[in-house]
Amino acid sequence: MVYEIKIYGNESLRTLAEPVVEIDAEILQILEDMVETMHEANGVGLAAPQVGINKRLFVIDIGDGIIRKVINPEIIELSDVIESNEEGCLSVPGIYKPVKRSVHIKIKYTNENGKEVVEEADDLLGRAFQHEYDHLEAILFIDKISPVAKRMVTKKLQLLKKESTKI
Ligand SMILES: [Zn+2]
Repeated sequence: MVYEIKIYGNESLRTLAEPVVEIDAEILQILEDMVETMHEANGVGLAAPQVGINKRLFVIDIGDGIIRKVINPEIIELSDVIESNEEGCLSVPGIYKPVKRSVHIKIKYTNENGKEVVEEADDLLGRAFQHEYDHLEAILFIDKISPVAKRMVTKKLQLLKKESTKI
């Protein structure tokens, strides 16, 4: 099943996600459906709050042959080395701006088999982990862009918000 992706202005994007207590059939189905939704939207990542689900779950597929299903992630380490790179988000369509992030991340999570995974990642994967983790904390990439970039997208953001909160 493909979910409807919540757009900027939807309150689910600004709600702190709750930990997953038990990995049951429902959680596995949500993860499956999130992967399907991400692929249909040609995204490299999708977090549960983006489809209106208030749980600490996200999926990532950067095209390296591994579809990551991430449950209750914890960031263990972020490098001091920062890099700025352009980002976008399925919940903020049409806006792409540079975001400064750590080049390297060490992250711990439970996978769909209930196994604890510790993964170290950099470049695109490291950035995707940080971007998706932020969603669980109710943070969007546009919160982290420069003030100048922010001013450039203010109008677009207002339009997205107007559209997504329209009844
Ligand atoms: Zn996003």
